[in-house]
Amino acid sequence: MLLRMSTLFLRTLREDPADAEVPSHRLLVRAGYVRRAAPGIYSWLPLGYEVLRNIERIVREEMNAIRAQEVHFPALLPREPYEASNRWTEYGDNIFRLKDRKDADYLLGPTHEEMFTLLVKDLYSSYKDLPVWLYQIQTKYRDEPRPRAGILRGREFVMKDSYSFDVNEESLQRSYQAHRDAYIRIFDRFGFDYVIVDAMAGAMGGSASEEFLATAENGEDTYVRCTTCDYAANVEAVMVRATEPIPFDGLSSAHVEDTPNTPTIDSLVDHLNAAFPRSDRSWQASDTLKNVVVVLMHPDGTREPLALGVPGDREVDEKRLQAQVEPAELTAFTEEDFSANPALKKGYIGPGVLGSQNASGIRYLVDPRVVDGTAWVTGADEDGRHVLDLVAGRDFTADGIIEAAEVRAGDQCPPDGRALETARGIEMGHIFMLGRRYAEALDCKVLDENGKLVTVTMGSYGVGVSRAVAAIVENSHDDIGIIWPREVAPADLHLMATGKDSAVFEFAEQLADDLEAAGIKVLYDDRKGVSPGVKFKDAELLGMPTIVVVGKNLADGVIEVRDRASGERRDVPAGEALSALVEECSQN
Ligand code: ATP
Ligand code: MG
Repeated sequence: MLLRMSTLFLRTLREDPADAEVPSHRLLVRAGYVRRAAPGIYSWLPLGYEVLRNIERIVREEMNAIRAQEVHFPALLPREPYEASNRWTEYGDNIFRLKDRKDADYLLGPTHEEMFTLLVKDLYSSYKDLPVWLYQIQTKYRDEPRPRAGILRGREFVMKDSYSFDVNEESLQRSYQAHRDAYIRIFDRFGFDYVIVDAMAGAMGGSASEEFLATAENGEDTYVRCTTCDYAANVEAVMVRATEPIPFDGLSSAHVEDTPNTPTIDSLVDHLNAAFPRSDRSWQASDTLKNVVVVLMHPDGTREPLALGVPGDREVDEKRLQAQVEPAELTAFTEEDFSANPALKKGYIGPGVLGSQNASGIRYLVDPRVVDGTAWVTGADEDGRHVLDLVAGRDFTADGIIEAAEVRAGDQCPPDGRALETARGIEMGHIFMLGRRYAEALDCKVLDENGKLVTVTMGSYGVGVSRAVAAIVENSHDDIGIIWPREVAPADLHLMATGKDSAVFEFAEQLADDLEAAGIKVLYDDRKGVSPGVKFKDAELLGMPTIVVVGKNLADGVIEVRDRASGERRDVPAGEALSALVEECSQN
């Protein structure tokens, strides 16, 4: 492949786009790889499309290598299958819906579990046909509430999604493992740093679920890893390390105290230390139990208030909470809700009125740290009053526990109790055992060995193909431009001829042809009358891994080869240029 800058459909920009918050967005637009068409919707220009296809090629090669088979569904889908799985409702505002001329409902596919399940159901009927692994590389549509960062979070984006269909759990384990191995090969080839973390299993819960995160300072996902063992998890999936219940014997009995003007945790702790000093140590925020009320909006439209009890030194983490209550959405408990629930005294809400059996009737879930036998200072449900020594399991019982409190660096690692540290990443892939949710909803059954009809069990495996283009740039750039890993770069070499000397252009032209003939992808800056400074700036911005300069030195029989990543330069005798460059491109 040989692309000539003189005719390439490309304009590099000097200015950053006004809406760009992250480097990949800024650089991909400035370097002319993508162009915004509407919020969260982008067009691919020749060089960008080349990168996207490289990503697709890697994904295809690795999926085909495990004998997954490629199919291609429409993006425009009928409502019925999504109605059967309840996702027509669950997706809420997140899907693009439309009607045809006969007033029938359609949607633009946000993900295709239903279609895959129906296809297998239509064509297969025996355990002998399974396992089967199908995938597609498809444009997906989601009306994301916050499209951001260019193609990192778009409303139209390209995803590889695959699904495995198995007759039983052991077989599903093998399908999962094969996909996991393929994903490791895919992400190794993308050439960015990534981690595999435990993730939420989703609504069905229980079985394996892992995410592949590209490590990135400004990634949207926060994950934790143990400073000692190999535990790593998305914060959404972190389960607080279990602690043993404490026997009640010898614990003081609960007592209500006046604590005027202490609606916040800080004001309460100050007051406790002044009015009720402890002999062993001072009071801390973690001695208090903070009760927060939110409202869940269920897909069927019902509003359910929910109370959460968390240690006072921790905030409720919205993402963790959201992951726990899915598919319900979170909204605020409003002033009107307070008026409708006079049992709740703002700033002084306590377990005395919370819980389905108590005055408010509001479901009450507590942090796992609130184990039986722990004593708390918490609201007494009266203005300006708190209760001290309120013991969990003795003086109050919640409706259940919930993992919604923030996770912090220094928290205990769930498996080994050592310290956790936090870091950020971009979700690039998600593999999980989906189980029978869709197969049940759509009645996908096969006959097993004993001639009995059984529901198939599924695995679901996604890769963010278009997102990968941006994630690679996030991982691999500097102040002046992009630095593509060779496997995904639109071209191997950025060859430029500088100056006015026609011998230089003739040599470069011949070299470009020879390199192309040798199977090297070349981006050749053959522009006449463009200054070397401008050519260098473009080469650095565009980010091919190797930059080759044919210029003045040709008179001395040498050309210059630069490594874009390290900046290293070396002179190569003109006569050896072809073989040296072919060699260079065969390395990574
Ligand atoms: P996120 O939490 O980032 O919204 P998700 O959990 O909705 O992702 P999946 O439904 O599992 O993602 O989709 C599979 C993959 O598709 C994700 O791992 C991600 O790489 C990619 N992806 C999801 N949403 C988008 C988007 N809006 N723009 C670009 N890529 C996306
Ligand atoms: Mg999403």
